[in-house]
Amino acid sequence: MGISSFQIATIKGDGIGVDVTESAMAVMTAAQEALGGFALNFDLVQAGAGLFRETGQDIEPGGEKRISDADAIFLGAIGLPSIRHPDGTEISPHLRLREMFQLYAGIRPVKAYANIPRRLSSPEADNINLVILRESTEGLFYSAAVHRRDTVATNEEVQDILRITRATTEKLHDFAFKLAHKRKSKGLPGHVTCVDKANVFRSMAFFRKIFEERAAQFPDIEIGFSYVDAQALDFVRKPWAFDVLVTENMFGDILSDLAGGLVGGMGMAACGEIGDEHGLFQPAHGSAPDIMGEDKANPLAAILSGALMLEYLADKSSVSALSDAADLIEHAVETGFAQNRLRPMEFGGDMGTRKVTEEVIHLVKHNR
Ligand code: ATP
Repeated sequence: MGISSFQIATIKGDGIGVDVTESAMAVMTAAQEALGGFALNFDLVQAGAGLFRETGQDIEPGGEKRISDADAIFLGAIGLPSIRHPDGTEISPHLRLREMFQLYAGIRPVKAYANIPRRLSSPEADNINLVILRESTEGLFYSAAVHRRDTVATNEEVQDILRITRATTEKLHDFAFKLAHKRKSKGLPGHVTCVDKANVFRSMAFFRKIFEERAAQFPDIEIGFSYVDAQALDFVRKPWAFDVLVTENMFGDILSDLAGGLVGGMGMAACGEIGDEHGLFQPAHGSAPDIMGEDKANPLAAILSGALMLEYLADKSSVSALSDAADLIEHAVETGFAQNRLRPMEFGGDMGTRKVTEEVIHLVKHNR
C-alpha cells in the first residue's frame, strides 16, 4: 500500500508572508521525514499584491482551480499598503477564497507558552489554553464593503446587516462541540461557551437558540453562555477559565485579537478557516512591511498554523500519522519555549526567522 499524499496549495504572498511560509513548509517537511506515513506536496501558487502590481491579477491564471482541487490551502500573508485597487481598497484574494469556499469556521487557538512575557500578573495566566471559533462568512461582516452587497447607504443614512442563518449556525455549533470533544480526549476541559448578545438582538437570540438545540446532541459536553461585553471583561479577569468559545463574526474578530494579545504578539497567532469541502490555514498576522526582508519576523504563527492544517488533514483522511505530526510540531514549540531555546526577536530575544525555524526543526527531529 502506498503512502497517502496530500496536495497543499501554497501561497507565500507578500512581505513576511514569504519568509514565514518557507519556515512552515520546512518544519512540516521535517515532521513528515521524522514520522513517515504521509507525503505533503506543496504546490506554489503565485498570488498577492506584488503579483497584482506586475500583472494586474491577484492570483495567477489557473491558480484558483489548483487551489480548489487541493487537499488544503496554506497562505502566508497578502497585501501591501502601497498597492491598491483604484477605489483605494487593498488587494485581498484571501477574502474571495473565504467566500468562494464558504470557510465558515474560523479557529484561533490562544495558548500561553513559557518564557513569553506574561501580560496578566496572575500566575494562572500560564494556564491560558482556549480556542475562539469565529463564524467567518456572515454575521456583521455580511454586508462588509468587500462583499459589495446592497444595503442602505446614502449621504443621510448607512446601514449594515447582521445576518445569522440556521444552516451555517448549526454547522458552526456542531464544529464547536466536536472540537470540544476532541480537546476533552486530549485531557483538556472540553467545554463550550456561546458568546452572543442574546439579550438585545433577535439575530443573537436565534444564534443562542440554535446553540441550545445542537447542544442537546452532545450531552457529554458542558456548556456555558456569555454576553460579548462580559466576555471581554472575563478575558482580562480569568481567561484561563475558558476552553472553546463560539461566536458571531465581528465579536470573534475583536475577541480573538484581545485574547491573542494576552499571550504574546501577532507572531504567535495561528489561524484556520474551515468549510465543508476546503480548509485554509494562515498566520493571523499580515505582511508586516515594516520588518519585511530583515529576517526579524516570528515564524511560529505560520508554523503552528501548519500544525492546525495537519490536524485538519488527519480528520479528513483518517491518516493518524498526520495527527502525530501536528502534535510533534506543537510539542516542539512548547518544549522550545519551556527550555528557553526559542527566543524570537518579537519578544526581545536574539533569534530571527531563520534561527527560530532551525531550532523548531531540531526539536522536531530530536524531541520525540
Ligand atoms: P493586516 O491588515 O494585513 O493584518 P497590518 O499591517 O494591520 O496587516 P501586521 O502586518 O500583522 O498588521 O503587522 C502589525 C504589527 O505587528 C507590525 O508592527 C508588525 O511588525 C508586527 N508583526 C506582525 N507579524 C509579525 C511577526 N510574525 N513577527 C514579528 N512581528 C510581527
